Amino acid sequence: MDPNERIVSVWPLAGFEKTLHYRLPQSMADSVWPGSLVRIPIGRRFAQGVVFELDSQSDLPLNRLKLVSHVVYPFPLLTGDLLRLADWLRCYYGASTESVLETMIPSVARQGKSSKKEKYAKVAKQLDGDELAKLESRAPKQHALYQFIAQQFLPQKKATLLSRIGATSSAYKALLTKGFIEEESRISKRVAYADELAEAEFVEEKRIVLNEEQRQAVESISNSMSKQAFAAHLVQGVTGSGKTEVYLAAMEKALKEGRSVLFLVPEVALTPQTVGRIRSRLSQYKDVSTVVVHSGLSEGERLDAWISLAKGEAQVVVGARSAVFAPARSLGLIIVDEEHEPAYKQDETPRYHGRDVAIYRAFLEGVVCVLGSATPSIESYRNVTRGKYIQNLLTKRVDDRALPVFHIVDMRAEVMRTRKPVQLSAPLVEKLQDRFDAGEQSILFINRRGYSSSMLCQECGHVEECNHCSVPMTYHRSDETLKCHLCGHEVAAPLRCPECQSPKIRWKGMGTQRIEDAVKRVLPRARIQRIDSDTMSRKHLFREILGDFRLGKIDVLVGTQMIAKGLDFPNVTLVGMVDADLSLHIADFRANERTFQLLVQVSGRAGRGDLAGEVIVQTFTPHADPIQFARKEDVGHFLEVELESRKTRNYPPFRHLIRQIFRGPNEDKVSFFAEQFAKRASSALGETVELRGPAPCAIEKMKDHYRFQIWYFSGMVSQTVAMLKKIESEIGWPKDVIQVLDVDPMTLS
Ligand code: ADP
Ligand code: ZN
Ligand code: ZN
Repeated sequence: MDPNERIVSVWPLAGFEKTLHYRLPQSMADSVWPGSLVRIPIGRRFAQGVVFELDSQSDLPLNRLKLVSHVVYPFPLLTGDLLRLADWLRCYYGASTESVLETMIPSVARQGKSSKKEKYAKVAKQLDGDELAKLESRAPKQHALYQFIAQQFLPQKKATLLSRIGATSSAYKALLTKGFIEEESRISKRVAYADELAEAEFVEEKRIVLNEEQRQAVESISNSMSKQAFAAHLVQGVTGSGKTEVYLAAMEKALKEGRSVLFLVPEVALTPQTVGRIRSRLSQYKDVSTVVVHSGLSEGERLDAWISLAKGEAQVVVGARSAVFAPARSLGLIIVDEEHEPAYKQDETPRYHGRDVAIYRAFLEGVVCVLGSATPSIESYRNVTRGKYIQNLLTKRVDDRALPVFHIVDMRAEVMRTRKPVQLSAPLVEKLQDRFDAGEQSILFINRRGYSSSMLCQECGHVEECNHCSVPMTYHRSDETLKCHLCGHEVAAPLRCPECQSPKIRWKGMGTQRIEDAVKRVLPRARIQRIDSDTMSRKHLFREILGDFRLGKIDVLVGTQMIAKGLDFPNVTLVGMVDADLSLHIADFRANERTFQLLVQVSGRAGRGDLAGEVIVQTFTPHADPIQFARKEDVGHFLEVELESRKTRNYPPFRHLIRQIFRGPNEDKVSFFAEQFAKRASSALGETVELRGPAPCAIEKMKDHYRFQIWYFSGMVSQTVAMLKKIESEIGWPKDVIQVLDVDPMTLS
């Protein structure tokens, strides 16, 4: 045995919750670091593992330890700080280390795949007319493929020829053997060119002189950056105040100092303009390489992105929440745009919040984290009031554009007047008409889908619910079906009420389809387009629609709140919020905050060009705080009032909420078990934690599972989580009861 052999501790990605020790052969000594991915023997099998410590101590004698079999990449995939971050995630969110590591390292990288070379085909022999004719008659498929390749300016990727052009691999092989085409292998430039998404929105660069408020914000952030220590900034700027310019200036500072930057957005597909602006600004830095990670990347592209960051070849990563784990080298800055967005919370294990992880990572790495929003979360605002974050206010719109004129339509009066349910109030119809006549564009927002377009019997009040989930089903007019958006269950829409047989079963509420129909009735000549999650799930369609809208091929866009963020269309002068109340009525302590954020974001879409904008909000509760504060875009006062109200009720952010869900197919069993757990927990946790429940969840049944919950209000998350984990491990757990911990939950359904 080699006396110079080192012992390393490795976290196996193989379903254990502990590190194992291995000997590291001398030959690998120079290529293994903490965070390296290695292959290790476990029993009779092999698995991947992440190296935690290099000079580890083991209780076992050396000769009982096995050898690391090989090093998957000659550079570490995670850094020491990322390993510490993994540990924090484990403790804070109560997730297993393995699930955390699997979240941090993309699955292709875990499998040890390497950047692969792609085969490209080009013509090797120019065929003359006779030869072509012969080929066409004997082998039409080969002929078609040959012609296609011959017409291309550049060599074509083999995979694309086969999948997109629909050529068969036998035709391809035949052409190769005949020497008509030839192949070359090269590493495809996936990272740089793959994201057409951002490419499509490549924004023309204009030189900008920062205004006074922007300059002060940049100076304040630069000061923090110069101190080379952790600091958090909250850039609170009204929509259109130029926050993105502030981020860009801070990024440039970091890059000039040779440090890398993480830029997080809630969802890449919804923020093409922000992504495009970053790319076009950074394109002037020849030695800076930017990767954009988004859900549309193929596995290979994702791998390339990760590897180029881990090797230090790329310095900027732009992406949604998982980009917070990017293995960027010599990190200098983290930016979290639209920090209030619930999309930053992952709704599966580990249920982390991208913004909170960003803050903790910045803390571990001793760098600056910049959060930005027009409507900051109450959590971040509280950190400002406690002096933990530095606030940078941008109060003015760039070029002093005026706030849009905000009209509130009292729908109670509308209903009284017309004596029937109203989708589009008279003022909204009138304004829509005006815009259409003036050749300007409008957007109509619907607050929420699903709940708002169910079927209701007007005789007995029966609402059609999903058999497997206790939620109303959504009516889809195009194919006369009811669909459940939780489980996908689908039935034909009934013609008579299943309860009382009355034919008066109608669809109520205001799905996007229904609003689209209503607009069609009042503006028969207008070009109307709908965007909802059905459209969204087809990425190309979504981009096409936005493109058409920008080009003025659409007059009225009808959509859910998902299109409320980040989009900037200069010709939109009217924004209508069709139903401002729905989110107010959900039993969630964030209902006010959500409604306010939505209204402000929505009104920010009106009048961003040279034309003044108008906003119409239809509501049954015109005097509610969120609506009144949104009307004046008075973010400061809203935050104050809402923070005070949370304080009075001792809700987050004054204490953390940990939500524990129990679910299973047998209702009595789940309920009984939740009771047992609650009893144990309440005696173990004592006075410091307030426990509420167990009680049925708002959605009592989902996918045939009954759901119960316990709420824990706690000041010290990690301790409470540790205690709950301890109880979990001690209690005899029935097979068919599943438990989920959600720390700082963003949804309470
Ligand atoms: P926000 O992110 O706060 O909504 P943006 O950064 O998107 O605002 O800025 C809105 C628009 O104003 C953008 O088109 C941007 O290029 C422009 N802009 C920002 N700052 C300035 C400035 N100082 N002078 C001129 N135009 C600016
Ligand atoms: Zn009925
Ligand atoms: Zn269902």
